Amino acid sequence: MKNKHILSNAALAAGLLAGASFASAQSPVPAPAAARTFKLGDFTVTTIRDAEFEAPNDAKIFGANAGPEAVGKVLAAADAPTDKITLSVDALLVKMPHHLVLLDTGLGPDAHGVLMDSLAKVGVSPADVTDVLITHSHGDHVGGLATADGKTAFPNAKVRMSTKEWAWMQSQAGAKSLVSAISSQVQTFEPGKQVLPGITPIAIDGHTPGHMGYEIVSKGHRLLDIGDTAHSSIVSLAKPDWTMGFDSDAAIGASSRRATLIRLSKTHELIFAPHFPFPGVGQIEAKGEGFNWRPDVPR
Ligand SMILES: [Zn+2]
Repeated sequence: MKNKHILSNAALAAGLLAGASFASAQSPVPAPAAARTFKLGDFTVTTIRDAEFEAPNDAKIFGANAGPEAVGKVLAAADAPTDKITLSVDALLVKMPHHLVLLDTGLGPDAHGVLMDSLAKVGVSPADVTDVLITHSHGDHVGGLATADGKTAFPNAKVRMSTKEWAWMQSQAGAKSLVSAISSQVQTFEPGKQVLPGITPIAIDGHTPGHMGYEIVSKGHRLLDIGDTAHSSIVSLAKPDWTMGFDSDAAIGASSRRATLIRLSKTHELIFAPHFPFPGVGQIEAKGEGFNWRPDVPR
């Protein structure tokens, strides 16, 4: 399949795809540029669409320890097709006084991500972005940091990620060109302390060595970008303990996924999930032994 071939090459060029990789395991589906804006206290928040993917239900990624039949039952119970798992790839834009912040950057131009077109829909050009916050360095989150010709895509931005994640990203042989494109802009941090007024990185362990969620708070209104704590709004929530093939530590990934979902189902806090159906904003509810997704975008 031609698209898949292009995507694989681009993903390899982005170079962050050792082992179970996001892009090479899945097929892209055409996704038009899209942006959805809402208010969070004094902040203006916009969900930015980059791409959409279908992963075959072959239990290589989802339910790797459960099998396709069990995964199919979960999909059927949600009235979803049982032969595939569909994921969005979205980023988040936060406009606050003195800062225009982008959380994650999508797959990048070589992989046909439409992030830049989606930003243009809300009048944002790459040079306007002052800060890029990275949840983790998988290709579907950092691929958009570089342009098609290998230059930095956000020339005026500080690129912030956890100390552990930057160390891990630099250790990936295939990430070399991306690392050199952004290295002069990178500022690392330790989780738990504000990186910008109203934005605090929260360690959510297991997906990658330095994977972060970001808590965004303005005037008592809050939103948690959960990064890749959960991928499928159906399978990852109904069966949070199932092995997720993209988690670098499957056991820790599963336990921190359940712990995070338990907490969110009690607080009813608004979350943004980059891989849930666009715009990926809503709340987690407890349901049976698992959880349920309740899409809910504030006005
Ligand atoms: Zn991802």
